[in-house]
Amino acid sequence: MRTIIFSIITILIISATVFIGQTPKEEPTKGKYVLVIHGGAGNADKNMPTELKEKYLSSLESALQIGKKILESGGSSLDAVEQVVRFLEDDSLFNAGRGAVLTSEGVAELDASIMYGKDLSTGAVANVKRVKNPITAARTVMEKSNHVLLVSDGAEKFAKSKGLEMVDPSYFITSEEYERWTKKKESEKKGTVGAVALDMAGNISAATSTGGMFYKLPGRVGDAPLVNAGTYANNKTAGISCTGWGERFIKNTVAFNVSALMEYKGYTLKEAVDEMIHKRLQKGDGGLIAIDKHGNFELSYSTNAMFRGAINSDGKKIVKIWE
Ligand code: ASP
Repeated sequence: MRTIIFSIITILIISATVFIGQTPKEEPTKGKYVLVIHGGAGNADKNMPTELKEKYLSSLESALQIGKKILESGGSSLDAVEQVVRFLEDDSLFNAGRGAVLTSEGVAELDASIMYGKDLSTGAVANVKRVKNPITAARTVMEKSNHVLLVSDGAEKFAKSKGLEMVDPSYFITSEEYERWTKKKESEKKGTVGAVALDMAGNISAATSTGGMFYKLPGRVGDAPLVNAGTYANNKTAGISCTGWGERFIKNTVAFNVSALMEYKGYTLKEAVDEMIHKRLQKGDGGLIAIDKHGNFELSYSTNAMFRGAINSDGKKIVKIWE
């Protein structure tokens, strides 16, 4: 009898072991993606012609779709933010790439930066006048040089040596911007562009590109190409791209401080963003877009408008200018 019981127990143990061994492996964690974009924060007239408003909204929508396509097929956040920003640089509606605002001497001087939250690698260019897509130059500095920031002629020579598309400085000057420059009048604030993405592998990237401030002094550099001021990304915390009065964003180290408040003080993304945009900066200074490592996102500003959009794998989509 004891032998029979012992045999049954042994058989049960062996079957259980075999069964457990055959249990299908845990399903891979379903990745999620998020993309947020901005086309600048500032003073946009609520009564702008419907046609112009539609143009802005449709451009933001197209930018979201470009990034979405990359992210939903498992592409990297770095590719997504670069491609989105390239698209917005090529669109003369925005103050980046073609259509950028001009300096007091009537030249487009462009700044851009990009950052990868997985390893904190980053690249930037400032004061470039001949590189068609400054954001790609920034990524090239990040990936193909030992440096973080290249400026002016040096940045242009480097971009050319790496095969990037170069253009005559006149390419960037639209008739609309030329007219605004001759009148020395910035009726409506034109927008810097930026993108932040979280990809399905959990990596966060951020990118920002701009022509800077209207009628700026030649050689002036703003926050957009300065990592920590206008752009920051860290997988431990969040990715951030800023827009607004660059000097104030530099003084307040805005992008890095959002991440630092989260990492050192345990703030949520919303608390950190509110602290920087609504408490440390002054009303009217600008705004930012951000995504945290969990996929939460913020589109925050203290101006009357921010051209902005968001899309994620849960099917949420936002494309807005005002509240
Ligand atoms: N932050 C940019 C700069 O100061 C301008 C902007 O975002 O509108 O260069």
